[in-house]
Amino acid sequence: MTRRPSPTGTAKVVHPLPPIHGSEHDGLLYYHGCICIPDTSDLCHRIVSLCHDTKVAGHPGCFKTLELLSQNYWWLNMSWYVGLYVSHCDLCLRTKIQCCLPSGELQPLLIPEERWDIISIDFISELPESGGYDSIMVAVDSVGKHSHFVETVTTVTTAGAANLYLRNIWKLHGLLQKVMSDCRPQFVAAFMKELY
Ligand SMILES: [Zn+2]
Repeated sequence: MTRRPSPTGTAKVVHPLPPIHGSEHDGLLYYHGCICIPDTSDLCHRIVSLCHDTKVAGHPGCFKTLELLSQNYWWLNMSWYVGLYVSHCDLCLRTKIQCCLPSGELQPLLIPEERWDIISIDFISELPESGGYDSIMVAVDSVGKHSHFVETVTTVTTAGAANLYLRNIWKLHGLLQKVMSDCRPQFVAAFMKELY
């Protein structure tokens, strides 16, 4: 194995070149029609720079840069090299707009007055099937941290989960005020709607 320096100076372990089914022409080695670049990061760096940093290239993203490169060049771990290069590009880091929404402020959790007023509901899914069930609905009281485990199936719907709650937990602790869950946000809204 050899070590190839990265654009940032760190090193990545690479394996010896696989058998290349290519051809040689004018002193250049071709692999599937692309010029094989020797394992010298300086040359790799210059080529990626041409496909990313120039005004014509316009600092495209990782996949677009790789697509441009792949039209003419090939080297071992090229996609890793390009990903690293683009993710460390100073101009991209300073000017590219984040696609995701900024995260909101943290909201403190309500302090419940009674036990089982606020609960969390989550599912342990895709378990080995037993008696026709392969999932467990876990309901935990936010105050006492007492919990109930109800057998169910991985494909249970929100209405089904609400029905499970009514049949197994409501009869013991009454109706709740608020639900917290790691499930998708729509789950909590639909769950509460089913209960009320
Ligand atoms: Zn860039």
